[in-house]
Formats: sequence, C-alpha cells, structure tokens
Amino acid sequence: MRPYIFSVKVYGVVVRAEPSWLFLVLLVAWSLAVGFFPDTEAGLSTQTYVLMAVLAVLGLTFSIIAHELSHTFVGRAFGLPINHVTLFIFGGAAELEEEPDRPFVELVMALAGPLMSLLLSGVFALAADLPGLDGAGLPLGLVLGYLSLINLLLALFNMVPAFPLDGGRVLRAIIWMFGASQRQATRIASIAGEVFAAFLMVNGLLVLLLAGAAAGLWWVLIGFFLRSAARSSRLQLETRLALRDLRVTDLLRPGLETIDARASVETFIREVLVLHHRDWCPVVDQGQLIGGAGVAEAQAVPVEDRPNRRVGEIAVKPEAGQLINAHASGDAALRRMQHHHLDRLYVVDGTQLTGVLMAADLVAYARMKHRFEDAGIT
Ligand SMILES: [Zn+2]
Repeated sequence: MRPYIFSVKVYGVVVRAEPSWLFLVLLVAWSLAVGFFPDTEAGLSTQTYVLMAVLAVLGLTFSIIAHELSHTFVGRAFGLPINHVTLFIFGGAAELEEEPDRPFVELVMALAGPLMSLLLSGVFALAADLPGLDGAGLPLGLVLGYLSLINLLLALFNMVPAFPLDGGRVLRAIIWMFGASQRQATRIASIAGEVFAAFLMVNGLLVLLLAGAAAGLWWVLIGFFLRSAARSSRLQLETRLALRDLRVTDLLRPGLETIDARASVETFIREVLVLHHRDWCPVVDQGQLIGGAGVAEAQAVPVEDRPNRRVGEIAVKPEAGQLINAHASGDAALRRMQHHHLDRLYVVDGTQLTGVLMAADLVAYARMKHRFEDAGIT
C-alpha cells in the first residue's frame, strides 16, 4: 500500500493525494506568495501574500478535484468502474479500471473535465467582480481572479489534442467514430501525445538554458511524464485488445512442471531449481494445488534439514485473487494481475491446477500478435 497524505470518500469515489502532491502545493504556494501576487498588486503585507497563497492552493486543489470528479461521475453514469481520484505531482487523475468501449462514451467523458474547469473559471470570475471585493476585500478578489485564470489555463492545457490529455482522448474518440479501429485511433492520438511531450521538453530546455528560468525544468519534467504516460497507456490498451478474445487456457505454455508436496526439499532443489534451473514451481498434492515454492523458500531451510522436510511444508499458499478460472478471458487475467500487483496467476479448472499464467507472457503474446498483424497492413 502506498501512503496517501489524505483520503476522503465523495459519493462512493475515494479522493486521495500522493505525497508528491505536497511538493506541487508548496511550489505553487511559494511562487504565488513571492511572485504572482506581489507582481499583480504591490504594497500588501507579507502575511497577506502568504494567506492569499494558502487560499489559492486550497482553491486550486478544489478545482482539480472537481475536474477529475466530473470525468469520474460521467464515466460512472455510463457504467465504467472508476473508484479513485488521485492527486500527484503533475495534477490529478481519475483512475479508469476499464477503457470505454464506445467512442461516444470516451468523447463525453473526456469533455466533462475541461467543461467543469471552464465553468469554474466563469464562476470565480463572477465572484471576483462582486461588489465589496475591491476595497478591504481586495486580497480575496485577487485570489478569486487567480482561480478564474488557472481554471481557464487548466481547461486549455487539457484540451491540447495529445493523448493521454483530455484533448487527446477527444481526438481518439473522433478518429474512432469516423471508422478507424480503437487501436488505430489510440496509435494516432498517442503519437500526437509524444510530439506534444517532445515540444514541451525542448521548449522547457530552451527556457532553462537561454533564459535561465527554473520554470523550464518543470516543463521538461511534465513533457517527460506525458511521454511515458502516452506510451504506457498505448501499450496497455493494445495488450488488452489483443487479449480480449482469448481464454486463459489458450495462453498457457505447454508442459506445466509441478512438484509433488511429498517430495523432499533436497529433491526439489536438485531436480527443479538446479537441474531445470527454474526459480519457482507450483506444489501439488494429487493434482490439487497446495501453493508455490521457489529459491527463497528452499534457501530458508537449513542444509541438514533439507532431506527430511517436505516441499508441502514450505509451499506458500495462494492469496486471494491469485487463482483464475481456465475459461476466464485473457483480458480479465491481465486486469486481475494489475489490480493485485501480481506477476503470475494459478490457473484452475475446478480444483485442478492446469497451468501458471505469467504477466510477462501476456505482454509478449500481445507484442508478437501485433507484429504479424502490422506486417499484414500496408
Ligand atoms: Zn481531465
């Protein structure tokens, strides 16, 4: 479990912040207190600037959560399981456990966030113009003005057509609507994402080197993050699409090697770990799965005890979520592994172990399938 600095439930959605979020908050607060606010309105006291910065980052946090919840509730209205909104160093993310299966759903869900930001920008602008906010209320008016501006910028930045930004999702949905496959649409939108990421990085480097402004470094980091997000989202989607029509049993490698629970640890080490140089093996008792044992479990047994101890005694029992039915889809297996952070699943038919499915095999399968499919497209 990763630590979160806060975690609250909003209508069934867990809103939480990673520790890296604090870094963003402090950076923004500092730049507002010593830069933006004094530049906009000189002559106020230091305490006033600090208080304004604190109010502004609270408002910014609220704005980003509202943007992400807007994606979340629209997605949930279409039946997509989205249970977490996570804040981190580069902003926020509504965590999709499944990608939309129709372009219309993707389009509406992607637009919901930027529309919320635009709406908030308008509301903050109206609030900043309320009578009474120019005299004694001036600092509050300035904070509201900043929140209006930042929400407008959030809407504009997110609408850049670069996957996985919202605008990139809109682009993908439109290409998909006009007859391309989801996979082709994802490929085009994520190439746009990588181009935009490269632009941010080059731009950031120029700002850093030519103007000597540290803000350039920030753009380099954001570009780097976007590029890896574009790549990993594409790889993930391609893998899922490739696995959707297969059953787990189709994906198993032939020749399942198991070790009988009654075998001695010494035999296990000699015949499985050393002779077949396997680092891990499922343990069975008359075909029934007992668990798994590997190098670590074997090494934990003192040398003199190895002839007398049984493998069944050192086997690690399967945890919840580690068993999957042989007839489940490959896509379901991949989601299970990602959800529980597992690198392998025991495949069972009834109570009989029929194989072990490795995460690496799923990815390798999808890559190989696409390699030959791509060769067929000219
Ligand atoms: Zn968004």
